[in-house]
Amino acid sequence: MIDELRKQLDEGSVTSEELFEEAVKSAKEVQDTYNPFVTILDKYKIRRRANSILTGIPYTLKDNISTSNILTTASSNILKDYVPVYDATVYQKLKKAGAVLVGKTTLDELAMGGTGTTAATGVVRNPWNSNCLIGGSSAGSAVSVALGIVPFSIGSDTGDSIRKPASFGGVVGFKPTYGRISRYGLFAFASSLDHVGVFTRSVRDAAIVTDIIKGYDAKDMTSLKDEDKSYTDELEKPLTHKKLCYIKEICDINQYNDPKVIETLRKFHDFIDKCRNQGFTVDEVSFDKVLLDAIYPTYMIISCAEATSNNANLTGIQFGPRGDGNSIDEVMFSARTKGFSELIKRRFVLGSYILQKENQEKLFLNACRCRRLIVDRVNELFKDYDGIILPASGGGAPSFDSSSEQVTDQQLILENHMAIGNFGGFPSITIPFTFVKDMPVGINITGRVMEDDILLHIANEVEKITGLRGLKVGDRHV
Ligand code: GLN
Repeated sequence: MIDELRKQLDEGSVTSEELFEEAVKSAKEVQDTYNPFVTILDKYKIRRRANSILTGIPYTLKDNISTSNILTTASSNILKDYVPVYDATVYQKLKKAGAVLVGKTTLDELAMGGTGTTAATGVVRNPWNSNCLIGGSSAGSAVSVALGIVPFSIGSDTGDSIRKPASFGGVVGFKPTYGRISRYGLFAFASSLDHVGVFTRSVRDAAIVTDIIKGYDAKDMTSLKDEDKSYTDELEKPLTHKKLCYIKEICDINQYNDPKVIETLRKFHDFIDKCRNQGFTVDEVSFDKVLLDAIYPTYMIISCAEATSNNANLTGIQFGPRGDGNSIDEVMFSARTKGFSELIKRRFVLGSYILQKENQEKLFLNACRCRRLIVDRVNELFKDYDGIILPASGGGAPSFDSSSEQVTDQQLILENHMAIGNFGGFPSITIPFTFVKDMPVGINITGRVMEDDILLHIANEVEKITGLRGLKVGDRHV
């Protein structure tokens, strides 16, 4: 993890070049089996005279984050040869800090999807068990951290794309408050929901990396003003915010018959008891079931509409492979037909339908109202509680063999709630807390907007209770 690497680098027991070479070597070794990378870099590059806690430390970036002179495909055929001419702010900040980029990671095409199976370059596999998926969309980022190739990776999260693969991969996944990290250079999916965030193997590392990449950016109009606070330093203070709640309608075991969900919830409730023993208050609260059931359709309506509009520039004209045809319409039609997979086309068809004038009021605007009702209810809870704690998935990662194991609707109830974090721009974190059938499962904690420091602080204390800090594939577990 970062502190240890920092110490080794400072003492001179290892050099940054050695760390880079080692990371590149293991990246190449695992690529055939797990497919986490779109690009593995082979040239060591570091900003001279950089001096930060991340100087010399290797990391990976999701391939929907713009890197000048480095291929950036968003794992889509429509961008398969796209080499940007500009850097995303998050990449620029990491460069300035002296962090060393090792590779660009595979994602579900254009960050849509949650399985890690829809990249143009193939399926990403779970390093805990290669017959299982890792989840997405930030699939390769989760794998690169879970395998310990790098101590941190940068991903994006529109519905749960950092926090779900973090759960399936046994790593920490954190997305801060909306606007805290600049999205300049992140390929837009659904702008009102998109966040940049981090994967690490400890909450402390998540704080360290976020401290480096957060901050106001005039190039992102949703960027928040700077705050004068180091999240890492806050972790050292005594925690005074220890009031958590969980939602009864999600966590009540009696309503389920799926054995995986039941085992996950049993372990969840045992864990909540441990938190109580460690001085946390954890109350059960009620949340209107109608609103909970509305989360997924609300998310789909808003995200597909925004995605259709945001991706209208992918025509093969300005960038990406040129389509065939005699007119501009034919050229675009051909590029988009060849360039997008079925999932993407389906979402654009939905998005176009939703945005049609006659449907806007009934579909899009109603979904926005629903979003507001959900966020209002959550903010009501935040009057009494510092965080909402819930399982991050309804069991460990599902296997590819769908005949034996399909993701059931019951399992989805335990993950769909994570979009709440995007609806309200709330900071939200997943940390590993247990194993179900030998696969890791995470716990998700969501906090008040602008209180990223408090959320990280709570997560840091909760992490101590899990005993899984620093978890890595291959570690023994009970
Ligand atoms: N799984 C969700 C989707 O399919 C979320 C994706 C994301 O957060 N980027 O859109």
